[in-house]
Amino acid sequence: MTRTYLPLDAADAAKYRTRVTLLGTAGGPPWWDGSDRTGISTAITVNDAVYLIDCGEGWGPQFRKSGLGPAGFQKGLDNMRAVFITHHHSDHMVDYPNLLLLAWHNGSDGLKQPIQIHGPGDRGALPPIFAEEKREFLPEVFHPESPTPGLVESSEKLLQAYALDINDRMRDNAKQDLREIFEFHDIELPAGTGDDPNGNPTPGMEPFEIYRDDNVRVTAILVDHRPVFPAFAFRFDTPDGAIVISGDTGVCGNLVTISEGADILLHECIDMDWVDGLMGPDSPKPDPNLMQHMLAAHTAIEEVGPQAEKAGVGTLVLTHLVPGNTPPEKWQKAQIGFSGNLVVGEDLMHFGLGEPRD
Ligand SMILES: [Zn+2]
Repeated sequence: MTRTYLPLDAADAAKYRTRVTLLGTAGGPPWWDGSDRTGISTAITVNDAVYLIDCGEGWGPQFRKSGLGPAGFQKGLDNMRAVFITHHHSDHMVDYPNLLLLAWHNGSDGLKQPIQIHGPGDRGALPPIFAEEKREFLPEVFHPESPTPGLVESSEKLLQAYALDINDRMRDNAKQDLREIFEFHDIELPAGTGDDPNGNPTPGMEPFEIYRDDNVRVTAILVDHRPVFPAFAFRFDTPDGAIVISGDTGVCGNLVTISEGADILLHECIDMDWVDGLMGPDSPKPDPNLMQHMLAAHTAIEEVGPQAEKAGVGTLVLTHLVPGNTPPEKWQKAQIGFSGNLVVGEDLMHFGLGEPRD
């Protein structure tokens, strides 16, 4: 039986062994007019170990404000165990370098265990050019030597770009070798998945384990965010319940599979009226193909509820809201087709799972 969870403030959430904290709830790379939502990022805390999912713009300052780190000089990254990246879009990754470069100044220097970072591997093929037949000029491939790198390669190249700082800190400030602080992993798809980045990116499959420790078991499944591939949803099974993070996805059977019976499903959402205004029939540049394209890669407000209902989820929390400035009342329409508890996510909203500790 799943339970209903309501948002808590930081002090109340701290009473729980297992917590979910929305660090940032905006989707998309634009800076949304009139919105103070931070870029997409979520923290899950179990027994004070922190697991970070995605590194959207501003996750670091939000992490400090969240109260998840201990007070004092140590800023809390000493409690970070693992990081999970759902896919390689910039709005999920843009502040990833902050983690790599600032960690040893903010708690992680002298870590006993490296922070484990898991993300999608190399796409393996370039995506097709959208509406190729209508384009006047076709884009040159950027960085043809490796045009679709995975997490391990991206991370190593980011560190190379900052070699001067890294060498300076290690030589002049006697900082621990940065290579001992992080371990990078490309998420390997199980053999026989039958995925095809430019064909069917989401064959029906079972969630597969990518990480496990004494607090959590993390499983992943492919979701439909074409042409971005691989794109993952993650499930965290904790001693106090299960939390699923959809990542970016259109309506997709695999998302229902991984969300089966979850206590909390954090799901992305797009306001199609906004897309309509940009490229719908009454817009300056009507392009029905582009509309379809956006719809296939994201889940519209009225489509989220039925997905959560099929999965039998207890609490559905909307996050990764596109655009970030759509009013909260409108997102409430996601209740349509869902008999459980709906929460429209806000930055620094917390949930506690299980029972509060004394
Ligand atoms: Zn995306």
